This record gives sequence, C-alpha cells and structure tokens, in this order.
Amino acid sequence: MAADPPDPHVHVDARLGGEVVARDMLASAFGLAADLPSEVRTGCGRRVARAMTAVRPESVTCLPCREFARDAHERLAEQVETLGAMPGSTVSPEQAAAAAASHRDRAARFR
Ligand SMILES: [Zn+2]
Repeated sequence: MAADPPDPHVHVDARLGGEVVARDMLASAFGLAADLPSEVRTGCGRRVARAMTAVRPESVTCLPCREFARDAHERLAEQVETLGAMPGSTVSPEQAAAAAASHRDRAARFR
C-alpha cells in the first residue's frame, strides 16, 4: 500500500499555541522548560508534527485550520467581553475591550 502523500500545508495547533505560551511563562518564572509534545492536534482534526503548525496567521496555509482559528478567536473575543462586563470582574471593561480587539484582529488576519 502506498503511503499517504506528504501534507504540504501549515496548520494551527487546536489549542492556538496555548501550551507554548504556558511553557514560556513557566520557563521565565521558574527557569523550567517542559518538553513540548512533538505532535499536536490541529484545528482541522489531524495530528501533525509541531513543526508543521504556525501561530502567525500569515503562515497558516490549511483552509479548515484558518477557519477554525478565525472562529476560535471570535469566540474568545466574545468571552472576554462578557467577562469584562460581569460585576466584580477582575478584568476592567477597558482591559476586556483591548483583549477582545486583539482577538478580533487575529480573527481578521485568518480570513
Ligand atoms: Zn489543518
């Protein structure tokens, strides 16, 4: 049986690089760096080598992954706005608006 043809696309990590961000925070706070898994689940439902994923919207060539990331950032923008509007929230409406704008900007770059 022939092997699958090589996948030429660059995907997004279904967790939108959250693990990488958490790892960098741990590394700077404690001087620790956990090993990253070499494979990640993508926005289009595959498992690919981490090297085949990108965080920069301009680098992602897989269309389903671009749609996944766009939707995810739009949802995050709405969630953070909801959070900022809640009484007693530790996030001010201004902070929430800034975070939401940054997610909307990312979403737009995935269009
Ligand atoms: Zn993909």
